[in-house]
Amino acid sequence: MEKANLDWSNLDFSYRKTPYRYVANYKDGKWGKGEITTEDTIVMSECAGVLQYSQSIFEGLKAYTSKNGDIVTFRPDLNAERMIDSAKRLEIPAFPKEEFLKAVEETVKANAAYVPPYGTGASLYIRPFVFASGIVIGVKPSTEYQFRLFTTPVGPYFKGGAKPITICVSDFDRAAPNGTGQVKAGLNYAMSLHPYVTAHNNGFDENMFLDPATHTFVEETGGANFIFVTKDGKIVTPKSNSILPSITRRSIMYLAEHVLGMQVEERKVTLEEVKDFAECGLCGTAAVISPVGKIVDHGKEILIPAGMEKMGEVTQKLYDTLRGIQLGEIEGPDGWIHKIC
Ligand SMILES: *Cc1c(COP(=O)(O)O)cnc(C)c1O
Repeated sequence: MEKANLDWSNLDFSYRKTPYRYVANYKDGKWGKGEITTEDTIVMSECAGVLQYSQSIFEGLKAYTSKNGDIVTFRPDLNAERMIDSAKRLEIPAFPKEEFLKAVEETVKANAAYVPPYGTGASLYIRPFVFASGIVIGVKPSTEYQFRLFTTPVGPYFKGGAKPITICVSDFDRAAPNGTGQVKAGLNYAMSLHPYVTAHNNGFDENMFLDPATHTFVEETGGANFIFVTKDGKIVTPKSNSILPSITRRSIMYLAEHVLGMQVEERKVTLEEVKDFAECGLCGTAAVISPVGKIVDHGKEILIPAGMEKMGEVTQKLYDTLRGIQLGEIEGPDGWIHKIC
């Protein structure tokens, strides 16, 4: 298979249309047969539920070329399951797990020319989503939906290595207690845009959101979970039912405990204790781990001892282990790497 003519190592994180996508429609109480299509536009009623009341959910994962030349994805079964959880919370009919995996496989295979070669640091980003395509004006769930999955080649998140970022403690809340923080709903991102732009305008890379009820516990950023490393090398991640369960973070916690033999804790983390940690990182599919060097709480600076030059030592070890597994350089736990072709 001939690769597309792209400057793989210099791709950024933006939408670059690839030839094929996968579409399935829900109508008359059931999901229809999905199929690959080249049609990248959608025609729907002006009164579609997604346009009126934002009934939409999404996922994000990547396909890589591994060291031995296989095209693989990382734990796509967890994305399928998480999308079912998201669907339930938004009264969207669940898209079956087997269909989800088939959509990933068929679309990646069809766009194989756009899966970046091994060693470029780039990957094929996969975006599955479901939205209410049926007409809704009185507030209620739609009776028609579309599942769609497209792919786009993206570059290494950090060109020339990961530089620690500076984040600020936000005055805005990300997710209400018992709200939708734990599911991947588009609406969580719509309302995070103003806090994000505000943080940027104030010179910060990201927001640290606290628990909305008491503003004392660390939750997450707009799109990534926290991990902290204690001075004695323990890995700590905040526990809350309004945090989105990151697959990257869950995988890192598992590897830390079962492969690297570290101590791990998922527990409530207060903002007050953050100054006592040695390292801090943000976990998500896009960057795997972004190191945090500084956290600013209303003018008060918390300097993470790992510093602003490079990733902390323990964070780097976690990053290298997970990346190594994703790229087929290190043998991972059973079932984590899903070979496509
Ligand atoms: C998607 C997402 C993450 C990261 O999850 P991954 O499965 O690791 O990509 C973290 N936080 C939020 C709010 C998210 O939407």
